Amino acid sequence: MVRNMNYNSDYIQKLVEELSHLPGVGHKSAARLAYHIINMPKEQVKHLTDTISDARERVRLCSVCFNLTDSEVCPICGNSKRNHGQIMVVENPRDLAAYEKTGRYEGVYHVLHGAISPMLGIGPADIKLKELIKRLEGDVEELIIATNSSLEGEATAMYISKLVKPTGIKVSRIASGVPVGGDLEYTDEVTLLRALEGRVVL
Ligand code: ZN
Repeated sequence: MVRNMNYNSDYIQKLVEELSHLPGVGHKSAARLAYHIINMPKEQVKHLTDTISDARERVRLCSVCFNLTDSEVCPICGNSKRNHGQIMVVENPRDLAAYEKTGRYEGVYHVLHGAISPMLGIGPADIKLKELIKRLEGDVEELIIATNSSLEGEATAMYISKLVKPTGIKVSRIASGVPVGGDLEYTDEVTLLRALEGRVVL
């Protein structure tokens, strides 16, 4: 070989490779980030890596709704002013954050951490569905299904509705004002509110 692939530092190459595993970061961006990090003051790099480790180490799932939290129970589940009889089912913590940002929803949540997808081999047992059914043994008046309007989101909504209906608990689905296939987290607040207010009973 005339030219060596590794013309600078093994450490930089390794850093570029690790960074390029992050979502949305291609090889070019990874290289840019790596060179940026190498030029940062050492204390700043330490602060960044500590922040990443702490977040990974400390953040866990709420034992009630499975939202991401720093404590056993998340601030929403721990808030007695919220309506604990109204549970909104979302696919992931980012969707929950989108609804929370509207500031208008007063119920609580249940985060499934995924959606049923036969194509990807994700079945009901692979998401937090058992946990949802267990919660329904408590005092629940309404279940609002706010899964995405993707194929998987719709399949999951259908599955939950069939499962819950016999219990007599009201099951509703957010209105289809949310763009088809559009992730909830990218939907604006007005659209989310309209979807919530226009929800239909299943
Ligand atoms: Zn919670």
